[in-house]
Amino acid sequence: MQERRELFPNVIELNFQARRRLGCCVYLVYGQSDWMLLDIGYEDTVDELIDLIRQMDFPLANCRYLVATHADADHVQGFVRAKELLPGARLVAHPHARRILESNDRIAAFAEIPAQQISINLPALQIDLEIDEGDQLSLDGINLDVWHTPGHAVGQLAFRFGKLLFSGDNIFRDGCVGSIDAHHGSDLPAFIRSLQRIQGSGVEWLLPSHGPAFRNDRRLLQSAIDRLDRYQHMADFGTCAVDWPLLDDWEEELARGVHPAQ
Ligand SMILES: [Zn+2]
Repeated sequence: MQERRELFPNVIELNFQARRRLGCCVYLVYGQSDWMLLDIGYEDTVDELIDLIRQMDFPLANCRYLVATHADADHVQGFVRAKELLPGARLVAHPHARRILESNDRIAAFAEIPAQQISINLPALQIDLEIDEGDQLSLDGINLDVWHTPGHAVGQLAFRFGKLLFSGDNIFRDGCVGSIDAHHGSDLPAFIRSLQRIQGSGVEWLLPSHGPAFRNDRRLLQSAIDRLDRYQHMADFGTCAVDWPLLDDWEEELARGVHPAQ
């Protein structure tokens, strides 16, 4: 048996457990007898991850849930293989993520990015259970509160567990946020509201879907919020902006006949 390297009580992160980077963060949350996984990562690491779980003495038959924090290929590609190995587990996602995964929307799931010759396999998934804001995911002795935190993706979920928040792709330790891309369903005003909610939540620790866990620091969150607020009024993220003041200035200058060089 391999020693369990708990990140927090009842929480194991499998990259941390393996002491090397296998892909996105995969959190194993466990109750007295049963357990669940938040995300799984790419298909080619699934067997190794499940083997690691077996070595830590978690009975594979006791996995209740396989949870998609959102529908991105780098988080969910391995779920079909994981279900083969964990037949008792139900696949769980937000309704928006379900729509993307069941219709195999390869653009929204970042499986197909033609401009960068990215085209990866994304097996069609059947979701067993939809969850949304206000729901709970329960294990024997453990409850996670489900938060819907859209912004990076329409179906982005986060999960509160006491002083912890499994925060998905909302924000990372270096202050970066999950990528902003209109084709992916990103929404800047919603993103800002999600970050403000996390900032004011009283949660102490954020357990993101990429990189190490970190403290819920007011200033780090505020700098991301301020950056996204500027993007709302800039052309950098195209149609994700809510307005572009330059065009209002231009219109006004045109009407007044202002010559740009004088
Ligand atoms: Zn991600």
